[in-house]
Amino acid sequence: MRGTRVWAGLLGLQRAVVEDVGVSEEGEIVVAARPGWRERDRCGVCRRRCPGFDLGEGRRRWRALDLGTTFAYVEADAPRVTCRRHGVVVCALPWARHDSRFTRAFEDQVAWLAVHCSQSAVAQLMRIAWRSVGAICERVCAEAQREVDLLDGLRRIGIDEVSHRTGQRYLTVVVDHDSGRLVWAAAGRDRQTVEAFLDALGQERCKQVELVSCDMANWIAGPIAERLPDAVRCVDPFHVIKLAGDALDEVRREVWNEARRDGQTQLARQLKGARFALWKNPERLTERQSAKLSEIQHTNRRLYRAYLLKEQLRQIYRLEPGPAIALLDGWIAWARRCRLPAFAKLARTITDQRAGIAAAIEHGLSNARVEAINTQIRLLTRRAFGFHSANALIALAMLSLADLCPPLPR
Ligand SMILES: [Zn+2]
Repeated sequence: MRGTRVWAGLLGLQRAVVEDVGVSEEGEIVVAARPGWRERDRCGVCRRRCPGFDLGEGRRRWRALDLGTTFAYVEADAPRVTCRRHGVVVCALPWARHDSRFTRAFEDQVAWLAVHCSQSAVAQLMRIAWRSVGAICERVCAEAQREVDLLDGLRRIGIDEVSHRTGQRYLTVVVDHDSGRLVWAAAGRDRQTVEAFLDALGQERCKQVELVSCDMANWIAGPIAERLPDAVRCVDPFHVIKLAGDALDEVRREVWNEARRDGQTQLARQLKGARFALWKNPERLTERQSAKLSEIQHTNRRLYRAYLLKEQLRQIYRLEPGPAIALLDGWIAWARRCRLPAFAKLARTITDQRAGIAAAIEHGLSNARVEAINTQIRLLTRRAFGFHSANALIALAMLSLADLCPPLPR
């Protein structure tokens, strides 16, 4: 095999000709290359053949995968061409994505690592800034999305919001309940964002949607009712259970404050320590937590009642539809007269949303699955902390949860 072919193989250059190999003053390997003849004079955006324009900014370098411990670069001319659709643009080069300073193999590896490892591991291993990792995720994701249409064949979807700390504070996300995949995400949580999703879906595919699950907010329910009139709207079990948890916490705080006010320090301390025991699913309680719970049962009947109300609401999602709906109605009746204002208020909310909650039960919307994807998205937003934009976070989420992650080079 000729030396130049070995170099092309080492750097993952395909459809390109290696002209020369040298070592820079800093000790980096620089491989001079040019695109194969079929690859020349193509638009960098659409890859269509088009006439040349000028030499652009002359020679350019792309960071390639390291060779052992040594940095490696591809160096080549990057002339500009005139595309009928995209105007004057830098020509396409087979080893790199448009507007990138890295080779395709390098970017694929970074994207793969970003999905599978911690933020600092990717940046340190690849020796690039975390910011660059975000930009790479965006490019790799955009390319993958041009090849598959994730919105095809959607029948049962979930729309939800996720908070994050990058740029705008909220994302709206859409998941496919059948495949468990994330299929759409955008910054913002308002009517316009939901409408942007419905626009992307298009009229024809809107008609095929049978079920939409979401929380109880009007900004989702409104556009759904208008544009997907035939779809059943379900309330996500996850949100119902969360509201019950919030109400329980409110009761716990009240009881705790009262105990402190009355100088019952022992009881106050007990209650403070009971938070986890109250929150956890009973089947996962440790022995100590179970003991704590039975202590509460004896010392504080109000708080224990609140606990039972939360648990019973959770049980609804574990029964067959018939008994589940009977239990739901029983729960509403109990919560209304339980003399706990937090739960009486929740009973009113649940009465308002009864149709959507019952629909979720009838259609067997599994809470485990809805919650699992929610948890994954939330973990990702934490991992993407430090990205410069919500778009980079969205790209990382799509790569991870929409099966768009490229395989490792070779
Ligand atoms: Zn073009």
